[in-house]
Amino acid sequence: MGELQTCYTVESLQNQLSLLPPKGLLGFVPTMGALHNGHLSLVKRALEECDKVVVSIFVNPTQFNNPDDFKRYPRTLERDLELLSALPIIVFAPEYSEVYPASAEGVAVDLGRLDQVMEGEFRPGHFNGVVNVVHRLFTMVQPDLAYFGEKDFQQLAVIRHMVKSLGLPVKIVGCPILRESNGLAMSSRNELLTPEQRHNAGIIYQVLLGIKEDQKRISIPEAQNKAIKQLEAAGLTVEYVEVVDGDSLESLKEWQLNSMVCLAVQSGFVRLIDNISLS
Ligand code: AMP
Repeated sequence: MGELQTCYTVESLQNQLSLLPPKGLLGFVPTMGALHNGHLSLVKRALEECDKVVVSIFVNPTQFNNPDDFKRYPRTLERDLELLSALPIIVFAPEYSEVYPASAEGVAVDLGRLDQVMEGEFRPGHFNGVVNVVHRLFTMVQPDLAYFGEKDFQQLAVIRHMVKSLGLPVKIVGCPILRESNGLAMSSRNELLTPEQRHNAGIIYQVLLGIKEDQKRISIPEAQNKAIKQLEAAGLTVEYVEVVDGDSLESLKEWQLNSMVCLAVQSGFVRLIDNISLS
């Protein structure tokens, strides 16, 4: 399979891709860098299922609704390349102008209510940015399979919807959430937490597991209230705790088979999201 190759331009990426045998499967893992084991689990899965894998590292400004969040987002390219160095993959780490040349045209996809609820409500414009960057990256890489984490559950639903509506020839593969030893979902933003905040944030997963347990006993509003109190008692600011239909992402009044709990909290200035399937 060869060794790590790093491309900084679309031209060099496409040169590398043109050297691949035409029949093999090409896997793609889009990331914003500051890589952790969650990202690596996607890369590993892609390597298992594909003949060649492209990993992109690009902090996409158009999906940040908060300029401070964009400024603070960890950028650790050297460390990321070191982490990937033993893998036989192509890393694509483009500058802004490579992803968005002046000639680039945006794509408009009707996401129905998928981009109105939860993250869509708290991060206006976020999913429009996600759809556009993923569409641009898909155009450049032309993967057969693309790997996304269930950690960003709503993003995964949005990407699946985009691929279906535009009829793109790529299979989307959802991958399970990797967690730190205290249960906190791995995230590049965890690096911005103090050791104490990172330790305390373990409560988030405990609360999600608690709701999974409670579904047999109490109503959805009762479970939400209990969760919000527990999170607030741990010093977290709650944006939402929603019990939703796993396909439509619409809020539920009654527990059902494919219920998901999704939540977003702030620990200091760091925003954290997580989710759990109740089935
Ligand atoms: P990001 O760099 O945060 O944009 O994430 C790149 C990809 O890695 C996305 O598809 C994420 O859902 C996925 N990802 C991030 N954190 C995790 C995690 N803890 N477990 C599994 N996948 C993850």
